[in-house]
Amino acid sequence: MTLDDLVGKNVIEERIKRIYERDKEINSVLRIEKVEGNKDGNYFGIPFLVKDNILVEGTKTTNGSKILENYNSPYTATAVEKLLKAGFTVVGKTNMDEFAMGNTNEHSAFGPVKNPKNLNRVPGGSSGGSAAAVAAGYVPFSLGSDTGGSVRQPAAFCGVVGFKPSYGMISRYGLTAFSSSLDQIGVFANNVKDVRTVTEIMKGKDPKDSTTLEHDKDLVKDVDIDLSQTKICIPKVVYHENADDNVIKQFERVINFLRSKGAKVDIKDIPELEYSVAIYYIIAPAEASSNLSRYDGVKYGLRNHALGLNKMYKATREGGLGIEVKRRIMMGTFNLSSLYYDQYYSKASKVRKLLSNKMKEILNDYHLIMTPTSPVLPPKIGEKLKPLDYYLMDIFTIPANLTGSPAISIPFGDVQGLPFGIQFIGRYMKDEELLTIADNFF
Ligand code: GLN
Repeated sequence: MTLDDLVGKNVIEERIKRIYERDKEINSVLRIEKVEGNKDGNYFGIPFLVKDNILVEGTKTTNGSKILENYNSPYTATAVEKLLKAGFTVVGKTNMDEFAMGNTNEHSAFGPVKNPKNLNRVPGGSSGGSAAAVAAGYVPFSLGSDTGGSVRQPAAFCGVVGFKPSYGMISRYGLTAFSSSLDQIGVFANNVKDVRTVTEIMKGKDPKDSTTLEHDKDLVKDVDIDLSQTKICIPKVVYHENADDNVIKQFERVINFLRSKGAKVDIKDIPELEYSVAIYYIIAPAEASSNLSRYDGVKYGLRNHALGLNKMYKATREGGLGIEVKRRIMMGTFNLSSLYYDQYYSKASKVRKLLSNKMKEILNDYHLIMTPTSPVLPPKIGEKLKPLDYYLMDIFTIPANLTGSPAISIPFGDVQGLPFGIQFIGRYMKDEELLTIADNFF
């Protein structure tokens, strides 16, 4: 069933009822908040859910944080505005790791989310609520944000499609800033076709976000490409990492499947890729420490009173922010400090450039780079790993953010009863090509 099959029907109330019935257990929807779409729009009657770090006037935007628990959206994000104009109705906001930092959804101030495919497992993160909501059948699509994999990884864990467009394809106006040079709004859906429909509506240059670009190809239409001529590159790092054996076995099945369809699949050593996690965990916390300085008890949300300005800042941030967010702010402040800037931030930016050049070179020869979306299967809820082990889980998703490339996670069977996703990374601003290939292969 695709969005086009729903056109002309009104399923809003029935889906809201479904959320009330089932979500007590899953906890993927933080609040049901209805903002009705344009009655004359083609898609009127079709509901969607929005990650709680995207502003929608008439809803709160908590970012999964106590510090913004009562924050009302002052305006609507451009991406959502366009969907409302097309007729879609917002029915609520979804749970997430606080300020989009995390990959299990256990860092939400409002409790963890359960994976609808296996209630003992995490749904992934940070957009775990949006992924779980689609997997649970509440809505045909939802919005998330992807800074280092937060749409693709939860999509893989929940067995749905997750797409992060090229950087600049969709306006970030109204998306809470985490790491501005990496953040992009992305889409969860049951199939690639719906991802194409929704992205086509949201995309485009926006005077309110100077990093957006015009894109003149129709994302819904297939580009002229012969699938049996597709050239796919697999970076060797897929096998080097502490990847789960079962993940690798399933990945081999994907390779065989694609080869049987005629695709040319090569394995290549791309040593630059091994630095991506290191680069990311310097750049993303640095930008976050700067972006999150605004939550100081004065401009936004919570204020914990104390005598004197500095004490008030301290009390507000101490009480309002969770452990992972504090860790990132500390790392980021350190990386940007005058003593260490050259050694860390500046160096990481240079290696990021090297990586981008290398990816460009590879993607001149290949249509796409393929990896498992995640090196591991969804962990159990409450399984306590070290922060570094969590950070390493993003090894395959981070490169697309560092280089601005479009990337998609597509479900490919189950492994030990748990969903499995593969990732295709495409050429920058050639999202139409990546989506055509993804849509027609499976
Ligand atoms: N898991 C990564 C992090 O914790 C990515 C998050 C994201 O994409 N928002 O930073």
